[in-house]
Amino acid sequence: MKNTQSLTDNYNRTIDYLRISITDKCNLRCIYCMPEKGVKPFAQAEVLTDDEIVRFVRIARKHGLSKVRITGGEPLIRKNITGLISSIKETGIRELGLTTNGIKLAEHAHELKKAGLDRVNISLDTLDPKRYTEITKGGDINLVLASIKTAEKAGLAPIKINMVPIRGINDDEILSFAELTFKNDYHIRFIEFMPATCSGMWKKEKCINSADILKKISALGELEQFEFRGKGPSRNYRIKGTKGVIGVISPISDHFCEFCNRLRLTANGNIRPCLFSNEKIDIKAPMRNGATDKDIEDLFRRAIEIKPQRHRLNENKSSQNLIKTMSKIGG
Ligand code: SAM
Ligand code: SF4
Repeated sequence: MKNTQSLTDNYNRTIDYLRISITDKCNLRCIYCMPEKGVKPFAQAEVLTDDEIVRFVRIARKHGLSKVRITGGEPLIRKNITGLISSIKETGIRELGLTTNGIKLAEHAHELKKAGLDRVNISLDTLDPKRYTEITKGGDINLVLASIKTAEKAGLAPIKINMVPIRGINDDEILSFAELTFKNDYHIRFIEFMPATCSGMWKKEKCINSADILKKISALGELEQFEFRGKGPSRNYRIKGTKGVIGVISPISDHFCEFCNRLRLTANGNIRPCLFSNEKIDIKAPMRNGATDKDIEDLFRRAIEIKPQRHRLNENKSSQNLIKTMSKIGG
């Protein structure tokens, strides 16, 4: 299927990527993302239905959307996830990915691949079983490790592993994660700790910037720049002679706003043009009140129009810029 028309924003960025949070609920409580008691979830009626999500993707695809990532909350706890993936892929989306904590991925990997999922990112912040349970407030690392193997077998490659290094929590494991690339074709992506205030543990000093991460990793060997297709936020390297890829994502120290190609759709139907801005456009109420496809297309265009040039996280202490609930927006 051919894209009919690509849309660019006011800063000449082509917007072709949508991250969809399909649920704000989660089966873990990672300490950097959520408070231990969780956050009050959206009422079921507030959450976009499968048909509403697919309708929006279909309309946006006609205007240049080519890449979708499903996230949450934990996307694999949503009912009919395989059916939803299949319907999204059928709209003609070229690249369909999913970010998961991996707890339930082994159960679903093969059927998801068959339904049209192209790749997965699995979040894993430690390789130590006890520490994993502490960081996630109860998770079993063995389920995640099994999921990584099953996802590989299912062909959801390359497997990307997201790790958020936090000073004093798991920063002593940066090298162990980097070493996973010695023998495996994994993409290990180190994400700078971002201010998700509802977790109650955000402190700028706990964030380890990408330059320091790379400096540490360079002790393992020469880092070669590695070009990887796509224009995501990750800067990619390979330790010379190894199989996998090391990526760093630096929303805090070196924002990539200039190249930002994405919008977000929250589980309750708001388009968010930027993770660090409170701007939003509701598509759920219009859809439920009889909006035509043209009306929805106009809302999609409007979201692109109001996309800010960049976030101001480093300049402005205003709480406007902080993410209140990562699991509601979809990280
Ligand atoms: N539950 C899924 C998971 O954990 O992969 C998907 C949703 S989660 C919000 C998406 C990504 O956001 C995960 O890789 C997670 O590590 C990351 N994340 C959550 N809170 C974060 C924070 N405060 N700083 C940086 N990354 C964060
Ligand atoms: Fe759940 Fe993902 Fe947040 Fe962890 S990072 S609490 S798995 S949404």
